Amino acid sequence: MKKNLILLLCLILLGCANKENKQNKENKKNTENNQITIYTKRHYDTDKHLFEKFEKENNINVNVVQASSDELIERIKTEGDNCPADVLITVDAGKLYKAVDEKLLEKINISDINNNINKNLIDKNGFWIPITYRSRVIAYNPEKVDVEDLSTYEDLKDKKWKNRILVRTSSNAYNQALLSSLIAHHGKNIALDWANQLSKNFARSPKGNDRDQIRAIFRNVGDIAIVNSYYVGLLKSSDDENDQKIGDAVKIFFPNQGKNERGAHVNISGVGLLKKSPNKENALKLIRFLTSEYAQNYYTNNSFEYPVNLNVKPSSIVAEWGEFKIDKLDLNELGINRKQAIEVFEKSKWD
Ligand code: FE
Repeated sequence: MKKNLILLLCLILLGCANKENKQNKENKKNTENNQITIYTKRHYDTDKHLFEKFEKENNINVNVVQASSDELIERIKTEGDNCPADVLITVDAGKLYKAVDEKLLEKINISDINNNINKNLIDKNGFWIPITYRSRVIAYNPEKVDVEDLSTYEDLKDKKWKNRILVRTSSNAYNQALLSSLIAHHGKNIALDWANQLSKNFARSPKGNDRDQIRAIFRNVGDIAIVNSYYVGLLKSSDDENDQKIGDAVKIFFPNQGKNERGAHVNISGVGLLKKSPNKENALKLIRFLTSEYAQNYYTNNSFEYPVNLNVKPSSIVAEWGEFKIDKLDLNELGINRKQAIEVFEKSKWD
């Protein structure tokens, strides 16, 4: 009897120990899974807010590493199996194409994410999901430029623009993406001629970022600038009164809108799921959140990019620029032609 009692006690204790062990393992798994690591090129305050909201709502710890897309891609390759990153966010489809080319991304089923994403902007191969889009437009001084004189990117090489064009350097990814689109449409030789002729029309040697080009219009350094649309919105809504004035003083023109024209060049900011992601469920949850109506409204109202979710309208500042026709070129072409674009720029007179 006594022997049986001891045996029973032992079994109970063993059961408890097992249960505790199982619980410990479960807890460990939960802490491991309760996080997500984001490698991102985006450097905007909007993202900080959205990541914090995602963290709070889902009780998932968000770790963010911010660097250039090329640096992040190199880091993912070097870290290999030890890479903690779950997703890669870039501001250029060309860099996502590069990550696919390096075999770093895993396919995502769009219907698992959101069925309301603009079909013109999704990756036809299924490797990345757009979160916003932006157009590289012409910002101009309406006091100096007759809008009737503006037409296409190609026309910017015309002599009438001599000493009037402002743009950043050719090493910038936004310019490389634009040139990649020109190579896709016209070939390398025409793109080289365009870059050379255009650089003869520069108001000054390329320097500064997109906002600096718009500021230079205000200071009458030049009359038109090739910039991403949202920078005008950021200046208009800035806390700095001077920047507000500058943003209000320029107008936006979408190139290549004629009946037979292809539409204005656009690029996406997008996200890819890393093949070696340790927290895939959380990664997909984040991608769903970033394309949700809440996040899409937040992006357009704060970073003045265009929403990719068709249920979300652009912010009032963005809507004021009017609707425009987008170039429906497969955005992977911005990556496919990138090497050639860099070579063309190196050969050209565009610094
Ligand atoms: Fe930017």
